Amino acid sequence: MKLKKIIIYDEPSIPEIKISNLVNFLKDSFSANIIIKNNFFQELDESEINLLSKTRIFDIYKKYSMYEPKQKSIMLEKELCKNSSLMENTIKIEDAKNISDVVMYDGFEMQKFIREQIKSTTNDTLHIIFTNRLTCTFDESDSRYHGRAVICANPAILSTTGIIEAPAKSKEFYIQAMANKSQGLDINNAKAMHKGEFLEYHDSRLSKIMEGYILQIIFYNITGESFCECLDCRLNNAHWQRDLLYSQIEVSKLCKKHQKILDMQK
Ligand SMILES: [Zn+2]
Repeated sequence: MKLKKIIIYDEPSIPEIKISNLVNFLKDSFSANIIIKNNFFQELDESEINLLSKTRIFDIYKKYSMYEPKQKSIMLEKELCKNSSLMENTIKIEDAKNISDVVMYDGFEMQKFIREQIKSTTNDTLHIIFTNRLTCTFDESDSRYHGRAVICANPAILSTTGIIEAPAKSKEFYIQAMANKSQGLDINNAKAMHKGEFLEYHDSRLSKIMEGYILQIIFYNITGESFCECLDCRLNNAHWQRDLLYSQIEVSKLCKKHQKILDMQK
C-alpha cells in the first residue's frame, strides 16, 4: 500500500524533536504529502479530556479495565492538555518511590481514544501523534506493563518519554546505580559515569532516533511488519539503549531488504 498523506501532531514542549528536520527526512524518503498539526491533546474539550484520563494506568501488574477516573486525575489531565511541558514536573520513573506515582497510560487504550477523535480516517492517510506522555503496554508473558516508545498502526503514537524510558540501560549502569545507592549517592553519579550510553531527557540525539521510529510506524502501515531482526537496520526493535543508539545513530540506515521496500514508496 502507498501512503498519500502523513499527518504529524507535534509535541512542542520537546524542541529536540526538531520537527523541520523530520519533515525534510520524510520528504526525502516518501512521495506522500507531509502535514504538521498542533499538539493533538491541546484541542480536546472537557468530555474528551475526561475520556483521555480514563486511559491512565496506576498498577503495572493489573491489566487495563475501564474505570471512573478520580477528579485529581482529570484536573491533571486538563493541565497537561493545556500545557504539555508540565509533564516534566511529574514524577519520573527513577525518582518514584511508588511506580503508581508515575503518570502512565495504556498505549492501546490511548490509541483507541485517539482513533475515535480522528473521525475521518482513511487507509492512505497516516496519523502519527507525538507525545511526552509515557505509553505502556501489558505483556501477557510476564503479566505486567512495560513502557513502550511506539504504538504502531493508524493512528500511531510516538512517545518521547517512552524512547527514553522503555529500552533498558546497560546492566553495568544498574549495578553502578545500586552500588551508589548503598553508599548514599543518588542516581546522577551513575548517570555521569555512563554519560552518552543512553538517552536522557532533552537529549540532542532524539530527532535522529525518532526518524527510525517513524520508519517503523510507516513500515507497519505499508507492509504489516514494523520490525527487523537485523541490528544493522533502523527497523530493529531495540530492547536496550545501546542497541537503539547503534541502529539509529551509528548505522542510521535500513538493511538491503527494507531499503528496497522504501525505494518503492518514492
Ligand atoms: Zn531491515
